Amino acid sequence: MVIIGLDGLNPDLVYQWRDELSTLSKFMEEGIYGRIKSTVPPITPQAWSCVLCGKNPGHFGYWDFTYRDDYSYGQPELVNSEVRDERVESLYEILPRHGRKVAVINVPVTYPPPEIPNGFCVSCFMTPSVEREFTYPDFLKEEIKKIVGEYIIDASTSDMNFRQMDKQKVADRIYEMDKQRFDLTKYFIREKHCDFVFTVVMGTDRMPHLFYRYVDQNHKNYTYHKKYKDALRNHYKFCDENIGEILRLIDENTSIMIVSDHSVQSLDGRINLNQWLIQEGYMKLKKRPEQLIPLMQADIDWNETRAWATGFTGQLYLNIKGREPQGTIDPQNYDSILDELSEKIKDITDEEGKKLKTQVFKRKEIHSGEYSRFGPDLFIYFDNCHWNISELIGYDSIYSYDTPKGPDDAGHGPYGFFALYGPGVRKAGEVSGADLLDVAPTALHLMGLPIPQDMEGKALTKKKHGYSEEDKEEVKERLAKIGYFG
Ligand SMILES: [Zn+2]
Repeated sequence: MVIIGLDGLNPDLVYQWRDELSTLSKFMEEGIYGRIKSTVPPITPQAWSCVLCGKNPGHFGYWDFTYRDDYSYGQPELVNSEVRDERVESLYEILPRHGRKVAVINVPVTYPPPEIPNGFCVSCFMTPSVEREFTYPDFLKEEIKKIVGEYIIDASTSDMNFRQMDKQKVADRIYEMDKQRFDLTKYFIREKHCDFVFTVVMGTDRMPHLFYRYVDQNHKNYTYHKKYKDALRNHYKFCDENIGEILRLIDENTSIMIVSDHSVQSLDGRINLNQWLIQEGYMKLKKRPEQLIPLMQADIDWNETRAWATGFTGQLYLNIKGREPQGTIDPQNYDSILDELSEKIKDITDEEGKKLKTQVFKRKEIHSGEYSRFGPDLFIYFDNCHWNISELIGYDSIYSYDTPKGPDDAGHGPYGFFALYGPGVRKAGEVSGADLLDVAPTALHLMGLPIPQDMEGKALTKKKHGYSEEDKEEVKERLAKIGYFG
């Protein structure tokens, strides 16, 4: 089996450009495809980790790039493969046990590169530098250099955030970087005869963050640009062509899955959520900073603070007595405070007083597992994630757009895209109800292996999908015509 992860690939854009994406179209016509539910929140590290292990983030304990392992304030630890591998079993541990040869290329949260028996790993964009050991086995590093040249870890360089770089230069770098991933995928299929190759391409996430304003006429900062208006579409086509080349390399016994961990969609604004908590009396500062500073550098009066927020889409923690070091909320008020905050948060409007379609999720209702207890107490999606938050302290109002890290055209959306094609995959067209948790069981099922009882997803090849989306509409229409329903 081959899994090509296209980070942030947006299903709506795939549907819109379908005619120009001949490989994806083939998978969609001859296999199954649809939207696939991301994790809450739809952030890269835990989304791909759920793909690897088939379990919700509560089992490995992170919801972002950092995590906490106790009830201290803040989330100082960077997520890494060693922590996850201690807590959950990944496909790259299960498959070698069944004698399968595995290659894992650039899958987020594979630094340090795990030791895969009889297998290979090239670690992800969170690798500090190519000076470090970023491959397993170590000698693979030299092979990679021969095949693709100097390995590019991410769009950003060691001294520059990609959001601040010259757009053309960073786009060229993204193409080169993604080409390396596709070339390595081919190498592991062709030369190393792997049974399972799982590659994640990051350019599909980086490009829209840079170019979305030129693509979407409804974007807040929509700008007509002769050259950049097709930047995203061309990159989608580039990925599609490379996947086509991979398809030509695999034999008739091999299935292929395309999957994205979330979408990347237009970003309309940001709520400065900690500033809002201050205004509403849930957070108190000992001293207001003179400039914008990160939450954890702010001088917070924890004895007078009931909640704080972090993350991109909005993750809220309560300051609970007996749990956090300077807790202020009685544990028996946990739910009532969360309900009170939820109602108030849902009432936050945009700058012009227009209602936002805001959803909130209590962690204990959507996540389980041993490490769930250290997670955020409430997750927030402002306007279907078209609004993000800023956790910085020192704003004058609760609204902002740019961050100090530079402008960003896009944010993450809660559904990715998937298409599955190959032997054992029935031609079912578009299906609903797919979840990232289903990917690991699907891979195991297609490879003829047992699915561990404690995996939470279901094999998409076994799942009952009922009618396809298109068929459903057609049958409904027909029944309506003869008066069965309105
Ligand atoms: Zn991602």
